[in-house]
Amino acid sequence: MGLNLTPYILMIIIFKMKIGIDIKNCSECPHHLATPYPTSDSFERAEYWWCKADNEVAPNLDAEKQRLSLKENGILLNLKYIAGYVEWHDETPIPAWCPCKIKKK
Ligand code: SF4
Repeated sequence: MGLNLTPYILMIIIFKMKIGIDIKNCSECPHHLATPYPTSDSFERAEYWWCKADNEVAPNLDAEKQRLSLKENGILLNLKYIAGYVEWHDETPIPAWCPCKIKKK
């Protein structure tokens, strides 16, 4: 009685396939993280937007402090600043550096 390797071979093929999904902005991506953007106005609901699929020092000191405090517990190994002060009605585009972006032919 031989060993049936077919299910294992199929699993390897499935895991190696790239799955592409169309999204309008980062908020629809599984790598996206939104955290509150601190302001003195308690009615404001602005957010920082982060990408968990990349890692880079933020472009300003406040954002970098936020980034390091989010990474501090060690659960988030990667974190890259996408945008600061994003409000619900903003149209924040997917950045050109997005590591998951697939160029359409
Ligand atoms: S930059 Fe790309 S990978 Fe990162 S959250 Fe946005 S869409 Fe997702």
